Amino acid sequence: MPHLGNETIKAELGRASWMLLHTILARYPEKPTSEEREALSAYIYLFSRVYPCGECAAHFQKLLKQFPPQTSSRIAASQWGCHVHNKVNARLGKEIFDCNEIAERYQCGCEDAEQSDKSDGSGSS
Ligand code: FAD
Repeated sequence: MPHLGNETIKAELGRASWMLLHTILARYPEKPTSEEREALSAYIYLFSRVYPCGECAAHFQKLLKQFPPQTSSRIAASQWGCHVHNKVNARLGKEIFDCNEIAERYQCGCEDAEQSDKSDGSGSS
């Protein structure tokens, strides 16, 4: 594989990370339990601490102070993700994404954990 410049690697890392984050949020329960809410919140704060691009992580941590993760429902969480990504887009001079398109854009083709348990019969997926 040819050596990629730092900016290219940073952009690829960003695209992959946003993809994972938005897909997680789009699959988050519509009615989360308090444990699920804590798990999502912890995941987002830890993500902001371990994100490998230091400049990006520092900026994202500031954004989280201003816009804390919304975990009350799937819609709240996915709209929050869209909003903070748009804040980063604005800072980088990128196009603003229409958050009405979020559910359609981030379909992962995955089953719910309960459905998967039923279909493989093992209950251990
Ligand atoms: P990306 O912004 O990576 O978006 C990928 C795709 O997601 C787009 O093509 C579009 O289809 C969709 N999308 C766009 N906006 C939204 C939205 N609001 N909601 C849902 N989907 C959307 N780079 C820096 O140079 N400096 C930084 O400080 C910086 N901070 C970052 C912080 C975080 C937490 C992350 C994950 C990335 C950060 N990046 C930063 C990387 C940057 O955001 C981009 O990922 C990178 O520049 C590549 O941009 P892109 O134009 O390919 O699209």
